[in-house]
Amino acid sequence: MEDQISILAQQFHRDLEKAQNSADIRDLKVKYLGKKGPIASLMMNLRDVSKEERPQFGKLVNDFKVKAQELCDQTLVTFDKVELAKIIEKERIDVTEPGRCKSLGRGHPISQMMQRVIDVLIGMGFAVQYGPDIETDYYNYEGLNFPPDHPAREMQDTFYITPEYLLRSHTSNTQLRVMESHTPPIRIIAPGTCYRNETISSRSHVFFHQVEGLYIDKNVTFADLLATMRQFWAELFQRDVKTRFRPSYFPFVEPGLEVDIECINCDMKGCSLCKKTGWLEVCGAGMVHPEVLKNGNIDPEEYSGYAWGLGIERLAMLIYGVDDIRTFFDNDIRFLSQF
Ligand SMILES: [Zn+2]
Repeated sequence: MEDQISILAQQFHRDLEKAQNSADIRDLKVKYLGKKGPIASLMMNLRDVSKEERPQFGKLVNDFKVKAQELCDQTLVTFDKVELAKIIEKERIDVTEPGRCKSLGRGHPISQMMQRVIDVLIGMGFAVQYGPDIETDYYNYEGLNFPPDHPAREMQDTFYITPEYLLRSHTSNTQLRVMESHTPPIRIIAPGTCYRNETISSRSHVFFHQVEGLYIDKNVTFADLLATMRQFWAELFQRDVKTRFRPSYFPFVEPGLEVDIECINCDMKGCSLCKKTGWLEVCGAGMVHPEVLKNGNIDPEEYSGYAWGLGIERLAMLIYGVDDIRTFFDNDIRFLSQF
């Protein structure tokens, strides 16, 4: 048995010397010290040794076992250290290298402009109401005093889905819906997307955004409309802005008018933005037509009101100096990131 132990010890030392890494040592431990290893079987064989010799051999086997265990563990610690150092070196991060910047997202310029307009109007006491993008002919046209075959319908080339349903051509579709469901005083704005079947060019697109305003109460006068318009533009630009009102025609208002503001580009001296006139056309407005009030179940003898519609793209183009509406929707990040 002594010979067996000494042969096994020699073999173990040879294997230990051959080990290249921690995995080899772990294999070695299993091979010699495992349940089915030679040391375990030597322990089993002790049973066959005579009682007198058993303690002596038992000690020999146990000493070898402890020694082998010790050697394996020591070598393992050394290998582990070396291997860990290698991993750390491989995964080393150079903190002095410049990082890759992630660009921050922001609101689309049209959304930003829309929000600016909404914020001003909320500050002036208007509440926000939303109407549907898919609308019936009645709310978009007929109820707003555009009877079938009315020539004014041709002012707005419309996307019809069926003869009855269409994509709203203006946010004015919200007017009647609000009148039907509310009793005056009504003081709302209706922001949203509008759709028109137009040839896409630098000046027009098949969709754009509007903010509609509507105020109905007792004794609302034309003077109130003009004052509100003046105040809105002053609030939007945070300074006095000259306004000019010109008669115009929209079927759902009477009288109707166009609102011009002083050119923000040239101090009214005349430039290409204002086509040398010093004025910018920014908004359509008017007193709500009595027929429209009637359609909204509001008595025109008792109540009156005014409404206006503002194009957000046009406003953004004027304020940001953008000369092609298409650039807003090309979604070129180099363009959008400027706002
Ligand atoms: Zn100008």
